[in-house]
Amino acid sequence: MSFLDKLRQLFGGGGQQPSRTTAPDTTGLWFHFRCNKCGSLVRIRVDKRNDLNREEDGPGAFLLRKDVMDDTCFQLMQAEIWLDGDYNIVASDVTGGSLISEQEYRAAQEKQQPQ
Ligand SMILES: [Zn+2]
Repeated sequence: MSFLDKLRQLFGGGGQQPSRTTAPDTTGLWFHFRCNKCGSLVRIRVDKRNDLNREEDGPGAFLLRKDVMDDTCFQLMQAEIWLDGDYNIVASDVTGGSLISEQEYRAAQEKQQPQ
């Protein structure tokens, strides 16, 4: 990034080039977990197009199966999350950890890193 680009960013002016990093992430869903063993928080991105399985029988329209690992104790958490047609969580079962909301995730992170 050039100095001029940085200046543009600083002053919030509309840059000349469209920035891909600010494009809305329309296919991503974020899930947040807490490890039962060490309490570490993990945030993962799921791709709506690739990671969700459409299911006929179940509490929701989509089933997500995901293995999640924190970077502290490396215990594997196995998540099964049901989503409805609007990608809202309707049911979840996490072995070795628990599903938390983004608010909980952010609040816990702020507590861990007081600045
Ligand atoms: Zn852990």
